Amino acid sequence: MKTFDYIKANSLDEAGAILAASANGAIHSGGTDLMGCLRDRIWMEDVDVVVSVASIEELKHIRKDGDALKIGAMTTLADIAASALVKESCRMLAQAAQATASPQLRNVGTIAGNICQENRCWYYRYSYRIGGIIECIRKGGKKCLAVGGDHRYHSIFGAVNRCVAVNPSDTAPALVAADATIATTKRNISAREFFTGENGKSSTVLEKGEIVKEISVPLSGDGVRSAFKKVALRKSIDFAIISCAAQIALSGGRVENATICLGGVHVNPRPMDEAAGVLKGEALSDELIECAANVALEGAKPLKGNRYKVQIAKAIILDTLSDCIL
Ligand SMILES: Cc1cc2nc3c(=O)[nH]c(=O)nc-3n(C[C@H](O)[C@H](O)[C@H](O)COP(=O)(O)OP(=O)(O)OC[C@H]3O[C@@H](n4cnc5c(N)ncnc54)[C@H](O)[C@@H]3O)c2cc1C
Ligand code: SF4
Repeated sequence: MKTFDYIKANSLDEAGAILAASANGAIHSGGTDLMGCLRDRIWMEDVDVVVSVASIEELKHIRKDGDALKIGAMTTLADIAASALVKESCRMLAQAAQATASPQLRNVGTIAGNICQENRCWYYRYSYRIGGIIECIRKGGKKCLAVGGDHRYHSIFGAVNRCVAVNPSDTAPALVAADATIATTKRNISAREFFTGENGKSSTVLEKGEIVKEISVPLSGDGVRSAFKKVALRKSIDFAIISCAAQIALSGGRVENATICLGGVHVNPRPMDEAAGVLKGEALSDELIECAANVALEGAKPLKGNRYKVQIAKAIILDTLSDCIL
């Protein structure tokens, strides 16, 4: 690991000022992803300063505020999974937090760190210690090693800027399906706009020195039910091969509104708007759900080595939507 300065910030202003003054500073929340990135020196530029935001009290809360649920950036995944308020207002988010990693990681890992984590493409995360950095397209190089190499867990919906890595966050599809908003030290960003596969950047649209402060989730009304499902190789601790979050609002026995978002299938969490549109105005049935799942996968463009993911995606949509109507 390359050495860096480590500073504990007492306020967001202080953290922002330290980051602004640094050449290439990084934010430390729980550190469960960041420390691996630093240890393996996966980035083209070494980090010079790590700023901990862990002691900033204003970042730790779960509360109702008007018609939204507000979750502080430093709230741990364990606290979100256990919160009666989250379970009641946004069941799929509590389920997604509960499905993330292991109890130890959920006790330390935060919601902000979860949505800001780096992708898990093994070429991207190749350790400097093993043989130097792999300068793939995402890092500004000329070649994507995954397309011609081992891409079994990569995108089934094509590339963004020639990168086929997938966003690994479990809470991200739930936040997109819930139409959440992410408040930073500079602006409010819709969860749909928050993630990026732009080359040379991390997994988000955050600018240098921009810190996530709070996540705002619209409260779901009566007749709304949501669910999150995840398929991973190991049950106890593993990233999703595919995940799905869905929310359905029923009125008079018919679907008034629906959102579906898949994780692990594309560079960004992928909203399935056409599939959700199939449900709207209809009475839910097994046939309708099957039809929605088929529509969702119509545009899939799997790579040679990950066609199996299309079948899993279809099955997980069926499973998630079925859970919404139980
Ligand atoms: C073995 C293992 C298994 C895992 N399994 C899963 C899994 O199944 N599902 C899953 O979703 N994730 C998984 N993770 C990834 C990750 O550790 C967790 O998602 C965790 O929530 C990250 O949170 P953190 O607070 O530790 O983030 P950190 O490591 O502190 O930060 C992660 C990134 O976010 C940035 N960041 C942190 N806080 C902020 C902020 N407030 N504003 C802006 N940027 C910020 C950091 O600079 C860093 O780049 C796993 C990790 C490990 C090591
Ligand atoms: S999939 Fe993206 S991150 Fe992975 S090697 Fe290709 S360009 Fe790099």
